[in-house]
Amino acid sequence: MKAAILRAPNSKVGIEDRKRPTPGPAELLIRVRACDVCHGDLLLQQGGFPFARFPVVPGHEVAGEIAEVGEGVQWLKPGMRVGVSALYSACGQNKRCLGGDEILCAQGWEFTGVTKDGGYQEFMLASGSYVAPLPDTLDFAEAAPLMCAGSWEGAGSWWGPDLSQRQLMVRVAAYTVRKRRPCCG
Ligand SMILES: [Zn+2]
Ligand SMILES: [Zn+2]
Repeated sequence: MKAAILRAPNSKVGIEDRKRPTPGPAELLIRVRACDVCHGDLLLQQGGFPFARFPVVPGHEVAGEIAEVGEGVQWLKPGMRVGVSALYSACGQNKRCLGGDEILCAQGWEFTGVTKDGGYQEFMLASGSYVAPLPDTLDFAEAAPLMCAGSWEGAGSWWGPDLSQRQLMVRVAAYTVRKRRPCCG
């Protein structure tokens, strides 16, 4: 499969052939259908994320279909349309995570396309507990950017008065992202 790889900060992204990854326990293999470009991708390329792990496949605003499920994954099935959270995974156990603010978790935090290979490739791995099923009315290209903005806006106090249409959209996005639930019993 083809993957766009950034080997080091301040270098160019190169297209390379890679072996399709195999999902491990509680992981999914996603067939990427859309992956947005975010200012975060530019920051990554410019060396703005000291915690990035190079070489890395950028892209953290991903929507696609489940191609394969790893051991232990129960309710997510091949063929389901999902968005992959920009927050690749977090500890899942502390107060932040249990309270639904896992984007603020400081323990075991992994970021899609920064510390884990992201969506600028044909297939990618995702954590089975950090994907959101997509409504049929939302197409892949519309859903992809919500996986970043929706995660951040979903954290903390995003309920406010006088919501414009745009803010309303973000609320829908946050809801979509938060609809995810653990993949394994
Ligand atoms: Zn983003
Ligand atoms: Zn946590």
